[in-house]
Amino acid sequence: MKLKEKPRLKVVDSRFLQKTFNCSPYTWGIYADFQEEETIFIISGISLDKAHTTLAHELTHFWQKRNCPQEQSLELIEGFAEWVAYQLAADQKLPRAMLGIRRNGEEPYRSGFQKLCLLESRLGVKGAIKKVKTCKSI
Ligand SMILES: [Zn+2]
Repeated sequence: MKLKEKPRLKVVDSRFLQKTFNCSPYTWGIYADFQEEETIFIISGISLDKAHTTLAHELTHFWQKRNCPQEQSLELIEGFAEWVAYQLAADQKLPRAMLGIRRNGEEPYRSGFQKLCLLESRLGVKGAIKKVKTCKSI
């Protein structure tokens, strides 16, 4: 997965995300069109592990916008972003981050991530990415 362009990155406090995007206090980052520019927001004060996986998750949404069908299910969109973050955590040997993703019980992240893991076991990493680039749900 390669990015030809990059989004704007803004480090903000949690209250800004809650107030601006009506997010829960447990939201670490968000990808959004903001003031007519694609922007990744990440909150300040989080661990380096959490920053890595949050940025991977949000950058995946940026990539999905350019490479995937427009009307994908939320389960596929969020599950794929979690799965990519998990791949990064595994590659960077961040066991706490990997555990955090595996233990996340929030939907549609949990079921989407589990389905992506099943897809990976059937098709491999490249096969799973290729499939996600063409399907609308998982
Ligand atoms: Zn997301």
